Amino acid sequence: MTLNTSNKKTSVNPFPGSDEIVAEIRTLFGRLFPICRSLTGDGVRQTLEILKSICDFDINSVASGTEVFDWIVPEEWSIDDAYIADQNGSKIVSFKENNVHVVNYSTAIDAVLTFDQLRPHLHTLAELPSAIPYRTTYYKKDWGFCLSHDQLERMDKKAKYQVLISSSHKPGVLNYGEVLIPGHSGQEYLVSTYCCHPSLANDNLSGMVLWVFLLRWLKSIKTEHSYRFIIAPETIGAITYLSEKTEDMKNIDGGYVLSTVAGPGKFGYSHSFKKDHLIDKAAKLAMADCGVEYINYPFDISGSDERQFSTPGFRIPMGTISKDKYFEYDYYHTSLDNLDFIKPEYLSKSLILYMMTILNLERNKIYKSLNQYCEPMLGKRGLYPSIGGSQKQKVGARADFFEKQSNLNKAVTVTDEIEAMLSLMFYSDGEVSLIDIAEKTKLPMSVLDEKAKLLIKKDLLELVK
Ligand code: ZN
Repeated sequence: MTLNTSNKKTSVNPFPGSDEIVAEIRTLFGRLFPICRSLTGDGVRQTLEILKSICDFDINSVASGTEVFDWIVPEEWSIDDAYIADQNGSKIVSFKENNVHVVNYSTAIDAVLTFDQLRPHLHTLAELPSAIPYRTTYYKKDWGFCLSHDQLERMDKKAKYQVLISSSHKPGVLNYGEVLIPGHSGQEYLVSTYCCHPSLANDNLSGMVLWVFLLRWLKSIKTEHSYRFIIAPETIGAITYLSEKTEDMKNIDGGYVLSTVAGPGKFGYSHSFKKDHLIDKAAKLAMADCGVEYINYPFDISGSDERQFSTPGFRIPMGTISKDKYFEYDYYHTSLDNLDFIKPEYLSKSLILYMMTILNLERNKIYKSLNQYCEPMLGKRGLYPSIGGSQKQKVGARADFFEKQSNLNKAVTVTDEIEAMLSLMFYSDGEVSLIDIAEKTKLPMSVLDEKAKLLIKKDLLELVK
């Protein structure tokens, strides 16, 4: 009996949990975090170029003013500097210190204002007084500053302030990145993330970095299905993409929105609107196979870009594996969601879960038993351990990619292997899929997949589709 459960075709170098990849993730965090991103403009372009240096994809553009369904592609926003200075000329709030200080997409201003005139334009979070909140004014011409509540308290309420925002809004383009990895099964899955948040780490520097590493891995293997990778500003970018590629999107079977994957908190799974779709099952089995405890989140129409992908015209089921999900952590949309909050090691675990999820989709075949009357005799085919007592022994990693992640590791026993073969023979009636068998038996997809191939070699199973 072959006891090797690893799938050679899918091995990737460097190993996703290895020190090399963690170091690569850390470097990319450092390069991308400081960039001031928005819906449009140089920040998004720089970000896409840096990601492209890790793995190639196309960068496309759509002109400002283009109608995209019920929306219009906005103008490009540029910003050079912004600050609030006190009467001594010392900058008490400075964009150059932290780009979250400016309400994203603010109009320009250069004025001396009293505190009372300035106050309606200042945003703070009293409940987290040391944090600068992240705010935007995309669809209303306005300007503002975000600062910590502590900073606000220290301001002299009788004083005047020099207020400068050196920004402009000009016709330009909205950029997005995309690449299609072609398969031959006729099934296509979408992997999407968003690139519009400025210096915020878990939301969504982490999603962008995971996106590019997942893309690089997927390009290194031969896939059965097609995978469409999209990176665009949240909401308007997804709407623009859907408007440009409406017909292409109608063939998509499902997908994942990559967001908030590197926080210190719990893993989570946000279900698709279908709740129990194949993409939900694939992700949940990956997490179970890796021994990960996670929070189940129901579908939420106020989530991320599934809000667009799953609307009636498209109805693409989209799920999300997260580690410290957006909305749920205290530092969400604040300056404390920074590089001290996330860790490359956490991102590499989320990456592994997404890789396992995609492998589950890849392995999800339907088989039919060629031995329909009673169970087959495994022993006479050399498929059963001939010496008793070896059952329950560990024979290999339960999950290929978690071998080096000791805290996320489970072992496969000889009993599991026998159960996998008998379950395959029992359930494979030409209609039940491998994911359904994995759900029923709680056996890892990697083991079921390997045993199915073995049973085909022994003329006990045939592939239906
Ligand atoms: Zn966000």
